[in-house]
Amino acid sequence: MMQQYLKIKKDYSDYIVFFRLGDFYEMFFQDAIVASKELEIVLTGRDAGAEEKVPMCGVPYHSANIYIEKLIDKGYKVAIAEQTTEPVKGQIVEREIVKLVTPGTLIEESLINQKDNNYIVAISDDKNGFILAYSDLTTGENFLQILPNDIDILFNEIISLNVREVVVDSKFNHQDIEHYLKNHQLTISLEDNTDLKSYYRSLISDIYDKHLLKAFARLINYLEKTQKKELLHLQKVQVFSSQSYLRIDNASKMNLELTRTMMSKSEKSTLFWLLDHCKTAMGSRFLKQNIQRPLIDKDKIQQRYSLVESFNDHFIEKEEIINELKKVYDLERIVGRLSFGNCNAKDLVNLKNSLKTLPSIKENLLALNNIYGQTLVENIPDVQTIVDLIDQAIVDQPPLTIKEGGFIKEGYSQRLDEIKDISANAKSWLDDFVERERKKTGIKNLKVGFNRVFGYYIEISKGQLSQVKDEFAYDRKQTLTNSERFITDELKEKESIILGSKEKIEQLEYDLFIEIRDQVQKETVHLQSIARDLAFIDMLIAFSKISMEKRYIKPQLIEEKKLEIIDGRHPVVEAISDQVFIENSLYMDEKNQILLITGPNMSGKSTFMRQSALIVIMAQMGCFVPAKSAKLFIVDQIFTRIGASDDISTGQSTFMVEMNEVNYALRNATSNSLILFDEIGRGTATYDGMALAQAIIEYSHHKLKAKVLFSTHYHELTHLEDDLKSLRNVHVKAKEEKGDIVFLHKVVDGPTDRSYGIHVAKLAKMPKVVIERAKSILDELEKNHGYNVIKAQTIDLFNYMESIEKDVEEEKYQSVIDQIKKIDILDITPLNAMNILN
Ligand code: ADP
Repeated sequence: MMQQYLKIKKDYSDYIVFFRLGDFYEMFFQDAIVASKELEIVLTGRDAGAEEKVPMCGVPYHSANIYIEKLIDKGYKVAIAEQTTEPVKGQIVEREIVKLVTPGTLIEESLINQKDNNYIVAISDDKNGFILAYSDLTTGENFLQILPNDIDILFNEIISLNVREVVVDSKFNHQDIEHYLKNHQLTISLEDNTDLKSYYRSLISDIYDKHLLKAFARLINYLEKTQKKELLHLQKVQVFSSQSYLRIDNASKMNLELTRTMMSKSEKSTLFWLLDHCKTAMGSRFLKQNIQRPLIDKDKIQQRYSLVESFNDHFIEKEEIINELKKVYDLERIVGRLSFGNCNAKDLVNLKNSLKTLPSIKENLLALNNIYGQTLVENIPDVQTIVDLIDQAIVDQPPLTIKEGGFIKEGYSQRLDEIKDISANAKSWLDDFVERERKKTGIKNLKVGFNRVFGYYIEISKGQLSQVKDEFAYDRKQTLTNSERFITDELKEKESIILGSKEKIEQLEYDLFIEIRDQVQKETVHLQSIARDLAFIDMLIAFSKISMEKRYIKPQLIEEKKLEIIDGRHPVVEAISDQVFIENSLYMDEKNQILLITGPNMSGKSTFMRQSALIVIMAQMGCFVPAKSAKLFIVDQIFTRIGASDDISTGQSTFMVEMNEVNYALRNATSNSLILFDEIGRGTATYDGMALAQAIIEYSHHKLKAKVLFSTHYHELTHLEDDLKSLRNVHVKAKEEKGDIVFLHKVVDGPTDRSYGIHVAKLAKMPKVVIERAKSILDELEKNHGYNVIKAQTIDLFNYMESIEKDVEEEKYQSVIDQIKKIDILDITPLNAMNILN
């Protein structure tokens, strides 16, 4: 058996092999050591011909799923070896790997999030750059993406796809991968076969580039290996190059909180959370894809605007479509299960009910009187035959299993109905039979009974035995004290029908199900196309809903490289804050290429910058935007460096992360890009930071030509406006009222005159002495125009200042102190004391 084990293990060396042994899955050697630790189960040993005992551990087969999930979750891959022959004494049963479970190929509904894609990616490299191939096995979506020869960009893409498994060839430089990916819990798998089976050719019929083909083949071959079957539901491959969508690098996606917040990493309070009014899981996934990858094709964006506008104008039609969408199930994943062969009758009914919404959806789309709506309707495939088939064949509330029958409708199969009839009529047939036999024999108390040994029998009491004649062909089976039992051919024949019918029904219903399933499966491509159409409609209606609710407006896309947002708002801050949101305008063009934004901390600099980027992103998704009006050019990339995000997981210091992100922007931005730099240089010494900030601004101004929003608390930098002709100062207004700062959150022209840092410290309730001391240092610095060294205050002076503070504090409490002093402790009861304290 160990030889058998080792032979299997050899082919699956990077998997943990679950080796079926009776009621257990056992693991051996290194697998056992790893699994016992990760699963917290006992590690034992087994004599196996080796000198020492072989390490071993095991889990019961009926609860294996929990353990498999745990291992997958930790990034391991599991291969399951089952017994494939019946056990025979003295022989070893044969075993085979029947299933591979890996993080990127999970299809169990319980293990994946409805609103997320579970992508697996394969990397290929050639001298021009990298190619990413990625698929979602549950939905059958496939993508190819061409990337420049830059490992940073490559890993940026991989991380932002949120994948759990990466497939490479064995020659790929592993150290690089491990360096970049080790902290992202990514499983690395190998696949060297890059020949594409002819079966999959049609998925990439319009692609001839052999590098692309190879990348795709690598992924498919790996997927096939894990699933051990042809993947019938894979969809046509979509090819992206970096020029085909608005690129937002991973750091920016995080900084802008598109799908996850920075602090809590949750979905709440993100742009996705705000916009996700989708009624279907497909709509939500499509929305997420669009947020991460907005469009740059002006026509396509404008088509979306046009549809959103029509939905805004047609409230009734919109509501009717929404009502229909609520009835739509996750078609993409049902189709996935269909082709994996693990779908049930309930899936088919859900599919039917989803498809039944189409006529009404089409009708309401046509009523929009929108040319794009009409095209959409014309392109929705007709699958009425499937609806009819399922309708005729399957009951409305089928059981979950397809092995026990009970889901095929009456009237669908004559044979099934006959068998069911017989089974259902068994009782009445027996009654008839008894009646007939009594008449025939003249025996009034003739009975029919049943036992396990003979099945059905006729029972006749001793006294009547003489009436049984030979011509009845009663066959004697058993003699009891008071009676005899007989069988007849007719009774036996019916018996086998009655007893066999349950089994027959189950088998027949199963066969019919497979027939229907195969029939439905033939429409895979059409069903997937419908799924995409519905996701698209769902998303646009969500856009319309939110636009109406939040007063968003249609942006105007312009050719000139200009961003003109009048009275813009931050969509998320506006939605979650209970305070009135102060609108702010943005104006940028060739002459206003860099905005240097100054203003106190907490005044709203980041909010202003982020809202500008979010408006651009929303606009390019085809959504309306929170502003009074917006004229925008089509942006190719957005870069951000916002806030201090300590990336502890990769062991990089905040400042290093900051510099990496700045570098990434400076190297990749074009004149069509939008860059947000928030407080660059804050992470180092003042001079150092300011020097860097200025150099970066100058470089952006002279070399990049990208639109740059640069916020800084070094208001000394505002003099740059004198020398850099496309740089303009703006600041966020705040005012001082009785020594306190009041934030007005209003962005206005010109530089700020001061920092207000001390005011913010005061708001944060720092000790008064610190505030007072800081004020006097500032006074002195300003008197001397800057950076003189101010001698430290002595401890005596500090103590003295503090004592003055204390006196003021103590006055407040004097009356309480006086009262306490009046109490005679010896004269009060504990209850009194408690009352006083209260
Ligand atoms: P800064 O970047 O200047 O330190 P933030 O942009 O982080 O300031 O803003 C601080 C807080 O002020 C935000 O969390 C938000 O609640 C509020 N705020 C910012 N801008 C506005 C605005 N335009 N209207 C209303 N509240 C705002």
